[in-house]
Amino acid sequence: MFNNKILKVMPYVLGVLILVLITIMIILKVSDSAPEEEKTEKTETVVSDLNKDEEVPGSEAETEKTADEKAGEKQEEKNTEVKENAEAEDEPAGSDLVQNETAQENDGGTGNEEDKTVDIEPTPSATPSPTPIPELIYEYKDDYIETKDDVNLRVGPSTDTDIVVNLKTGKRLKRTGYNEKWTRVIYEDKECYIYTPLVTGVFEEPSEDGNAVGSEQTGTGTASLTTGVAAPNGFIVCIDPGHQTKGNSEKEPLGPGSSEMKAKVSSGTSGNTSGYPEYKLNLTVSLKLRDELVARGYTVIMTRDINDVNISNSERAKIAADAGAQAFIRVHANSSTDTSVNGVETICMTNENKYNAELYGASRKLSDAVLDHVVASTGAKKRYVWETDTMTGINWAEGPVTILEMGYMSNKDEEEKLLDDDYQNKIVLGVADGIDEYFSE
Ligand SMILES: [Zn+2]
Repeated sequence: MFNNKILKVMPYVLGVLILVLITIMIILKVSDSAPEEEKTEKTETVVSDLNKDEEVPGSEAETEKTADEKAGEKQEEKNTEVKENAEAEDEPAGSDLVQNETAQENDGGTGNEEDKTVDIEPTPSATPSPTPIPELIYEYKDDYIETKDDVNLRVGPSTDTDIVVNLKTGKRLKRTGYNEKWTRVIYEDKECYIYTPLVTGVFEEPSEDGNAVGSEQTGTGTASLTTGVAAPNGFIVCIDPGHQTKGNSEKEPLGPGSSEMKAKVSSGTSGNTSGYPEYKLNLTVSLKLRDELVARGYTVIMTRDINDVNISNSERAKIAADAGAQAFIRVHANSSTDTSVNGVETICMTNENKYNAELYGASRKLSDAVLDHVVASTGAKKRYVWETDTMTGINWAEGPVTILEMGYMSNKDEEEKLLDDDYQNKIVLGVADGIDEYFSE
């Protein structure tokens, strides 16, 4: 009865229940899959945005995977960027190339390890590297490398360390250590470091003339002047060794017809350490230059060949003009209250000079040629051609003129070099090469 009734209805009830369940499941499945698709789309959008714009690290939208990938990519790009800068200029800004503080060197396989600590200034702008860069281990080497032109040798394996020398032209140097970032070399008996991408080749032997590669008249090695007297080449050069034993503070016009007056000739500077006077150095180098130019066929006139004279700057220009000099080379040495300042510069008039602007083009060309060649022959720092109308001896010139400032007697290292016979020869060869180039064009 009751039980029978239930039993009769049961299949229908079960049927309805199954239908309801199926319906619920279908509805649930549909409502669940719709947001899933949306979510996926959203993630893809975030990822592609990140690819376009790297300025959103740490954005909440980033999924864990995306964040890791981005960090890796960014680090890689950053490293490439720094490396390229370093290759181009050897001066990557705030270099984080060498972030490790300790560079271990394997000293000739003897088992002795020498720790070299290099202080690296923190770079606040740099993104902290998530993974530490491994220590720089130097592979021991006993051979020779050649460098690119215009590279710096440094005291330590970091662009934050001092520059030992700037090599204007490629050199062959003894190599004692290597890793992919820095190469350890010997320059003038000193251990130095060069950024490894600036090395162009590896060799078994030193070059024939010791270390120098290419022209003998560059950077390292000794420089000898040309001897003898060549047949005249038709060019007349006047050399003016700057200053004299005693300056003359009497006045003379700054230029022809000028009412502005300036001391006839000043006493010049002197070596900070040695006290050696500029006028003596100027004459020593000028006499060497005279001999070199004569040996190359030039006719040379000197404004003075002794120190104890009394010749004003305008009178010196007159000597050059009277001789018909096609190049008037005034030899000086520089000085600065900042004892770190060093390097070579040349001086000529501006192209608006009131007295002889027509000589500007030739004088500038002469100044450039002399500057470039002296820098190449000495390895000194290149400053610039200073154009100024404040020099009496330039304003009174009637032919192409340049003042050579050979270097700074106020800088200890440069003073020492300027007083060195061999370095003076390099200067002389550079000036002579510059004059050759000037007349060859
Ligand atoms: Zn001077």
